[in-house]
Amino acid sequence: MVNGIWEDFLKIVKEEAGSRVVDTWFKAVSLYQWDSLNKVVYLLAPNTFVKDWLSSNYVVIIQLHLSRLFNVDTLSVVFVDGSKKNKQKSGTSETSRTTEGGKIDSLVPAKLDRPKKTSLIKKVVSKKRCHINTNYKFENFVVGPSNSLAKAAAQAITEKPGYLYNPLFIYGDSGLGKTHLLHAVGNCIKAKDKNKSILYQTADRFVNEFINAIRFDKIHNFQSKYQCVDVLLIDDIQFISNKEQTQEAFFHIFNALYDSHKQIVFSSDTFPQNIRGLAERLRSRLSCGLVTDIHTPALETKVVILKKKAEMNKLDLDDKIAYFIASTVDSNIRELEGALIRVTAFASLTNQPLSLELAKRVLHKTEKIKKDTVVDFQNIVKCVYRYYNFDIKDLRSKKRNKNLSLARQVTMFLMKKITNRSLRDIGVFLGGRDHSTVVHALDKIEHFAVANHCFCEQLKKMEQEIRGR
Ligand code: ADP
Ligand code: MG
Repeated sequence: MVNGIWEDFLKIVKEEAGSRVVDTWFKAVSLYQWDSLNKVVYLLAPNTFVKDWLSSNYVVIIQLHLSRLFNVDTLSVVFVDGSKKNKQKSGTSETSRTTEGGKIDSLVPAKLDRPKKTSLIKKVVSKKRCHINTNYKFENFVVGPSNSLAKAAAQAITEKPGYLYNPLFIYGDSGLGKTHLLHAVGNCIKAKDKNKSILYQTADRFVNEFINAIRFDKIHNFQSKYQCVDVLLIDDIQFISNKEQTQEAFFHIFNALYDSHKQIVFSSDTFPQNIRGLAERLRSRLSCGLVTDIHTPALETKVVILKKKAEMNKLDLDDKIAYFIASTVDSNIRELEGALIRVTAFASLTNQPLSLELAKRVLHKTEKIKKDTVVDFQNIVKCVYRYYNFDIKDLRSKKRNKNLSLARQVTMFLMKKITNRSLRDIGVFLGGRDHSTVVHALDKIEHFAVANHCFCEQLKKMEQEIRGR
């Protein structure tokens, strides 16, 4: 009976939580034993870290689906730590400790020694894996009032990396040039001194790398890689939020680099105080240098950016067309570039000259389609609010009265049904709730809708309203 159950379970989790969650957490786990008498399933985890992570974050989802697959009402999950007997072999000193939250065993050494800067590691970082995009330079970054301070600070640190503004923290909405500036810093420092070891990494990839380092006992290679660089550029640092273990590892890397005057630059979608789920000591490190922001550019800056992008693509862009595109697209520069590409591609594919009329035709059509189809989270919240009448700011809070909890679960359900956003995004939007909370809400609302016809009709009505039908 047990045969194939774990495989079926993996398929379901992949469907529900995405292949990344399965690859990162569940692939290395196996179904060890099924005690049908006592309804207990034993899962074999490769190490303590995975075991604890699963038991803190995924028990609900495991119980939900395995009980269905084993055809029982409910079951208990026991995790077996497969690494227990091999622990001493690894170079990592595993220390068991209790955090404020409860029960996390740390695999990260309490204090990391700065590893010797071997030439081998340095070569790997500088040549192969620096991840620097050579297209993003200061020379092709257009400066306007919205970004002048960030650009000036980024350029200033290239004069004497590690000494002036360290760390430099640049924040702003998506598509406004943060990543461009981080790469520009890397390119500029490299151009001044080719021996400098520079590493650009997104926080997302940093988290994955860290998890893999733990899973495959490569934690020291991981630390060495990061602690040996001269310049560390970490993009979208907000993705490190709620990742306690990664934050701890990063904290030590930060200290080692900072203490030896190595330059660190961060980008984020918000300022350090606003990043949720960040350990206080890390938050204070992020803001101990210079914190600067980038805003949405004014029309004139957008026009100059468009002209610059056109020039880089050897395209003659009339001022009138540039003004039209810049005033039609009011979101960010990434969208602006996208609009320029759509217009020029349309002209070239249909063999027509690039005229204002053509730009109007192409953009008015796509902007309308976008407005018709994009349903964002806010619309859903507003609709649920009309039915449940709660205080909107409480939706993201920890408060849990009956009406509010139901409204929150309905919101999660509609977000999942109507948008194509991930469970993680939904959880984050609703006050940093974890994935299993969202799964639980979806399950509850589904069951409730089956059992209660009025409720089911109300859900349908809300969905229609949100979709504007
Ligand atoms: P973010 O990291 O803030 O989301 P990016 O750095 O990825 O944004 O920028 C999105 C696009 O817009 C990139 O192609 C980038 O080159 C371009 N861009 C943003 N700001 C500027 C600017 N001031 N001058 C020229 N190009 C810009
Ligand atoms: Mg970016």
